[in-house]
Amino acid sequence: MSQPRLLILGPPGAGKGTQSANIADEYDIAHITTGDALRANKDMDISDMDTEYDTPRAYMEAGDLVPDAVVNAIVDEALNSADGFVLDGYPRNLDQAKELEGMTDLDAILSLDVSREELIDRLTGRRVCDDCGANYHVEFNQPDTAGICDDCGGDLIQREDDNEAPVRNRLDVFDENTAPVIDHYGDHDGFVAIDGEQTPDEVWADIDGAIVAHAD
Ligand code: ADP
Ligand code: ADP
Ligand code: ZN
Repeated sequence: MSQPRLLILGPPGAGKGTQSANIADEYDIAHITTGDALRANKDMDISDMDTEYDTPRAYMEAGDLVPDAVVNAIVDEALNSADGFVLDGYPRNLDQAKELEGMTDLDAILSLDVSREELIDRLTGRRVCDDCGANYHVEFNQPDTAGICDDCGGDLIQREDDNEAPVRNRLDVFDENTAPVIDHYGDHDGFVAIDGEQTPDEVWADIDGAIVAHAD
């Protein structure tokens, strides 16, 4: 198999980050995630892009989308230096989807379905490693030692936007802007809808099967 070019779609909390880590490990490809890239650059100066705020921070803390010009540039650069990849967190609206079409072809598009109620439980209970970004959950995916990352020993923290008010806003932003992106890809070659409410291992088995079926 040549290195697969994969897109993973789904609402906030669907398990995209968790499953992208499995995919990147198994297929030895890059995990390109706009959320992590933006968190590492929350205070970068974006004022030359004619945006409402001068840095990504205010958008992210409220759970609003960072302006397209900023994220398009991040993805374009990351794709240029990757052979195979799993793209996670982008595109989040139809204009970004159009932009992505000019950047690369895709072998498979994996779409995780999870109900809104379950998403709220997952996001408000999520903990992330401050050092390596690994995902945990206070109930569904506990580390071996409370508060400590299994992978690197880093501290587990709660993201500011994983509190209830920004979580609800992110789910509304998803319904308005990102759900149409999933519809748009629905009849694309390689589109596979996956039941994201299964256990992480069951979701992974479905994803791996879809990659084997579509990327060769
Ligand atoms: P989650 O994995 O919980 O959905 P992310 O880590 O992907 O959250 O994104 C965190 C925040 O980063 C978003 O709420 C948004 O403010 C910003 N962001 C990430 N990706 C994009 C994107 N493609 N377009 C605009 N904003 C984005
Ligand atoms: P996303 O990147 O789509 O926002 P994450 O991968 O960060 O989602 O997962 C959100 C939260 O749900 C995390 O706390 C993660 O440990 C947990 N989680 C991921 N997959 C599952 C699953 N299949 N069942 C239960 N909890 C899950
Ligand atoms: Zn870690």
